[in-house]
Amino acid sequence: MSDTLWDRCVAFHGHECPGLAIGIKVCEAARRHLGIVFSADEQVVCVTENDACCVDAIQFLAGCSVGKGNLIFRNRGKMAFTFFRRDTGERARFVLKNSISRGELDRPAFQRALLEMDPDDVFDKKEPTFSLPETARLFAGVICEQCGESTAEHMVRLKEGHKLCLDCFDEYSRGW
Ligand SMILES: [Zn+2]
Ligand SMILES: [Zn+2]
Repeated sequence: MSDTLWDRCVAFHGHECPGLAIGIKVCEAARRHLGIVFSADEQVVCVTENDACCVDAIQFLAGCSVGKGNLIFRNRGKMAFTFFRRDTGERARFVLKNSISRGELDRPAFQRALLEMDPDDVFDKKEPTFSLPETARLFAGVICEQCGESTAEHMVRLKEGHKLCLDCFDEYSRGW
């Protein structure tokens, strides 16, 4: 990857780190195996199994973001990332190889080593065991009868016939 791209990625993330380098490598793997470059809409979906630094590289390089609904957290505490293409139906789950570890290297050296590696030496490519999430839905707003704030319909809970948002529902349950 070019220095400029790395610099822009670092600027987006806020600092340089090996995690960001891992995120860049998984985007390279997605490009090589699935032809994914940058998703302007929801054509590409990434399901990430961790919420570490690497996810910022995916947002920046692959165009998968929380706001667009095509970045989904399925936290399993694993360095694993699944990419889906809605247009072709292609999919792949990339899992960081167990052999990838800092070892004797300091952080900057580990980061440099990662950036120079071939993505296929960094990740095992597997078949995902879960299916493609549906496209982002728009939900009607419902006013919570306790705090008066509007919340998405599918987040509403009923307590004795009253519509409550999740926060008020929790407080209410604990009070009983
Ligand atoms: Zn970081
Ligand atoms: Zn409420």
